[in-house]
Amino acid sequence: MKENVVIIGGGIAGMEAARQLLLLGYHPIVVEQKDRLGGHVGQWHRLFPDMASAQDLIRGLGEEISDANIFLETKVNSINRLRDGYQVMLSNGVNVACRSLLVASGFQLFDAARKEEYGYGVYDHVITNSDLEAWFNGKPDVRIPEVPENVGFVHCVGSRDLKAGNLECSKVCCMTAVKQAIEIKEKFPSARVWCFYMDLRLFGKKYEDFYLGAQQEYGIQFVRGRVSEVGETADGRLQVKAEDTLTGKPLRVRLDLLVLMAGMACNPEMTRLARMARLDIDSDGFLKSLDNIRSINASNRPGIFFAGACTGPKTVPETLAEARAAALDIHRYLQKGL
Ligand code: SF4
Repeated sequence: MKENVVIIGGGIAGMEAARQLLLLGYHPIVVEQKDRLGGHVGQWHRLFPDMASAQDLIRGLGEEISDANIFLETKVNSINRLRDGYQVMLSNGVNVACRSLLVASGFQLFDAARKEEYGYGVYDHVITNSDLEAWFNGKPDVRIPEVPENVGFVHCVGSRDLKAGNLECSKVCCMTAVKQAIEIKEKFPSARVWCFYMDLRLFGKKYEDFYLGAQQEYGIQFVRGRVSEVGETADGRLQVKAEDTLTGKPLRVRLDLLVLMAGMACNPEMTRLARMARLDIDSDGFLKSLDNIRSINASNRPGIFFAGACTGPKTVPETLAEARAAALDIHRYLQKGL
């Protein structure tokens, strides 16, 4: 009989780890709270820098883990230590004994309404990065103007923000802003598009090309400055006040659409799991790896491993690579007890 490995979280980290564990001859049991697999990436439209389809990625992973045991709309109720492993009780009444489990519980998007100065939830045409992806995916409940003439993107919403309680850089949102700005220009070629940033953090393969293309081919304007206030004019447009910190001049622009780059925040489910399994939490609020250089997948508990954004913001390729590494760590642990 194949050995059980419980995977908590059915986003791309959990799916990729399940795929690898199946190939290694284990019986992965994926526990997902939502009614579908894929996590945040499953709600996304295209992925930078190659504009690959997020839906194709999720579909492909889903097909490859059809032999895994997948419980949707299911929570972990308790994790108890056994002499040689753990007893995991699920909200659907199933109990699983396993020697190893993987936490891949991901992150939650920062709630942009907490930054009241941006007017999310107050003005119809202030939306988040996630809302815009939903609109790209054809979701009817996100409304954007028919032909927006002026569109702004605000970077670092709820990231690198002491007041919001999240000092971390979310790592992916500068590139997401560049990608979404390009997609807006492709859909509405006559639109003028601004990105308001504090710093641009574009560190990955092809990212710089992508950014240069955004300026040179699409004419997207990058303004170094924080938006301080968003209001609405009598004709229903958005009035945005900012300061260009390179020139020192205040800026006022009228926009038809403002997109907030909501960052990655700790998932409350992760905190609940940490308490249940006695996992260490790091100073940034995310789960604490045993060693941030050599053992990023390992936890402080024997046989419990991590993958993906439960330990901090990650890109899609990083998450997939971590999931593969975690599957190998689990294999090594189960073979040798290392
Ligand atoms: S990736 Fe860019 S937008 Fe996101 S938090 Fe870091 S600096 Fe801000």
